[in-house]
Amino acid sequence: MTSFPSQQTIPEALIRTQQRINEACKAAKRSPNEVTLMAVSKTKPLSDVMAAYDHGQRHFGENYLQDALNKIEHCSHDDIEWHFIGAIQSNKTKTIAAQFDWVHTLDRQKIAQRLSQHRPPHLPPLKVLIQVNISNESNKSGVTLEALDALVNQVSQLPNLLLCGLMCIPAADQSESVQHEAFNKMAAARDQLNHHYPSIQHLSMGMSGDLSSAIACGSTMVRIGTDIFGSRNPAPTPKS
Ligand SMILES: *Cc1c(COP(=O)(O)O)cnc(C)c1O
Repeated sequence: MTSFPSQQTIPEALIRTQQRINEACKAAKRSPNEVTLMAVSKTKPLSDVMAAYDHGQRHFGENYLQDALNKIEHCSHDDIEWHFIGAIQSNKTKTIAAQFDWVHTLDRQKIAQRLSQHRPPHLPPLKVLIQVNISNESNKSGVTLEALDALVNQVSQLPNLLLCGLMCIPAADQSESVQHEAFNKMAAARDQLNHHYPSIQHLSMGMSGDLSSAIACGSTMVRIGTDIFGSRNPAPTPKS
């Protein structure tokens, strides 16, 4: 069973999360309309997605393809936007390009090419964000800031992708000031790229633990799992 923080229901948790977003926006003198709340439903059942949907939630993030497909297939609402936020294996690009509206974890030209090639022609371009390894962690996905320009240049030329912004997952267990520094670097990179690539507007950053800090630094999309759906179930193991 799902365990909620202090036994909240999903609608209550959504309300509290939106309140945290509103407070963070107020403190940062930003409008809450600038920040999209993505509910990260990885490992959670379709019934949890539907409970959030019924409360008005429309953006959902998933990491594990098979787990996501079961939900996408059984979800009859076509105004949901599905965001892929997990590691992308190249043999999964066809399915991801066909089933998702957004991909946040693009970090290689080869994957970008395949997603563009496999995007079904009847769908609008796939919205993509490039993942930046902002804390330079050796085991983390994402391009370095140094390699970002080259990848942006390549991705922006692909016909069936729309490059919308940048995404990061800063190193865990760091002081708030170090985290702030990472988020600020992301915002500076986004601002600089936006001069040449007007479609680069989004900053996907902020999770349950660092939402306020991310919003203070300019996040436009927060990815919240635990605070909405409770602690995660174990990751599905095989072929996901
Ligand atoms: C799981 C996950 C989240 C949500 O994290 P919480 O701490 O549960 O809010 C956000 N982004 C990515 C990429 C994730 O894998």
